[in-house]
Amino acid sequence: MSTIAAAAKAAAAPGPITMEVGETYPEIRESVRRVCARFPGEYWREKDRNRHYPSEFVAALTEAGFLAVLIPEEYGGAGLGISAGAAILEEVNVSGCNAAACHAQMYTMGTVLRHGTERQKLEYLPKIAGGKLRLQAFGVTEPTSGSDTLSLRTTAVREGEHYVVNGQKVWTSRAEHSDLLLLLARTTPKEQVAKRTDGLSVFLVDMREAKGAGLTIRPIRAMLNHNTTELFFDNMRIPAASLIGEEGRGFRYILDGMNAERILVAADALGDARWHINKATAYGKERVVFGRPIGQNQGVQFPIAAAYMATEAASLMTRKAAALFEAGEPCGAEANMAKHLAAEAAWQAADTCMQTFGGFGFAEEYDVERKFREARIYRTAPISSNMILSYVAEHVLGLPRSY
Ligand SMILES: Cc1cc2nc3c(=O)[nH]c(=O)nc-3n(C[C@H](O)[C@H](O)[C@H](O)COP(=O)(O)OP(=O)(O)OC[C@H]3O[C@@H](n4cnc5c(N)ncnc54)[C@H](O)[C@@H]3O)c2cc1C
Repeated sequence: MSTIAAAAKAAAAPGPITMEVGETYPEIRESVRRVCARFPGEYWREKDRNRHYPSEFVAALTEAGFLAVLIPEEYGGAGLGISAGAAILEEVNVSGCNAAACHAQMYTMGTVLRHGTERQKLEYLPKIAGGKLRLQAFGVTEPTSGSDTLSLRTTAVREGEHYVVNGQKVWTSRAEHSDLLLLLARTTPKEQVAKRTDGLSVFLVDMREAKGAGLTIRPIRAMLNHNTTELFFDNMRIPAASLIGEEGRGFRYILDGMNAERILVAADALGDARWHINKATAYGKERVVFGRPIGQNQGVQFPIAAAYMATEAASLMTRKAAALFEAGEPCGAEANMAKHLAAEAAWQAADTCMQTFGGFGFAEEYDVERKFREARIYRTAPISSNMILSYVAEHVLGLPRSY
């Protein structure tokens, strides 16, 4: 599309690390807003009520080229930097839509791009960019190991030209609505590896072939409409060519993709924060109780102002992380801090919005209770807040390792 193509051209020449003042990618944001306007609150309420996947919305974003902005031009995408992806996801959520329906494609794709063979890239990326294949599922978390990824138990054992996968994943979101799954599994037993980070491998699994042939997907009914599932692998045979990169180095590849994931999820959270602030501000001006707008009371306006400041601060950290990421500089601390601050700001804004709306906040028709539920996720997934606090304590401040 033309706005994306123009932005790609402008971004082609790398310059010094800078952060823009004002909106990033205003033309792209405007196009996103136009697409989102076709999917109003009642569309999302119906999906939420029935826990249905917003297929029409994801198709519209795909068709407009938004989900392919990070895929390089030679593979059919726009070749833009992470801040373009962040602008799109943020704007989706500011508009009251739900970026979680499709954000994973932006960061899982990076693992294929950075570590896949040229053959894998040529086979998958153009189809993903063109919307012919969906890569929306990312299987890391398991019921027993949880945040302790290195203790995951799903195994993939090489047998000739195949790997045989056994085990279980939990909270694998969008698996029923994705063709491909990026899967992390153990290929060397934990006791046999030289370094504790060795022995895990990443696979790109074609679920269209695996379903019913060793792969069972069971939906989990959750607090929010996240289309999340449990996966069961029972002697699932996948071609050896599904391996991404080198066997045993999968944990590094996943870590490598985490900065992108943190930045994009921070953008999701910022979008939700802004939606709640906009909604609370508008309601504060219009709702009259005791003969004056409720927003005239400092008890109502101060929490909204505080949530706004937290959001602006988190936005600055997200931009800093994105600028470093795009310059190829280390950004682990900034990406983690951005995700944490944005998650806290989203929750602060959601709680404030709910309080501002009084009883009406609980009524479905205002969309506040739905967005409130959606805004809670960032403190838990894709990584829970304590893990980020622990990362900053240990790796930034040099405090003793706690686990
Ligand atoms: C809606 C939803 C969608 C998700 N989608 C995906 C997905 O698509 N793919 C995927 O792989 N995963 C997904 N997840 C999983 C998510 O990443 C995990 O839930 C999250 O990382 C936390 O892991 P856990 O639930 O096992 O919690 P646990 O690891 O059991 O932790 C429970 C609590 O204890 C705390 N804790 C644990 N250990 C420590 C410690 N050493 N120090 C301090 N605190 C600690 C945690 O911070 C947390 O608050 C999703 C989760 C949800 C709820």
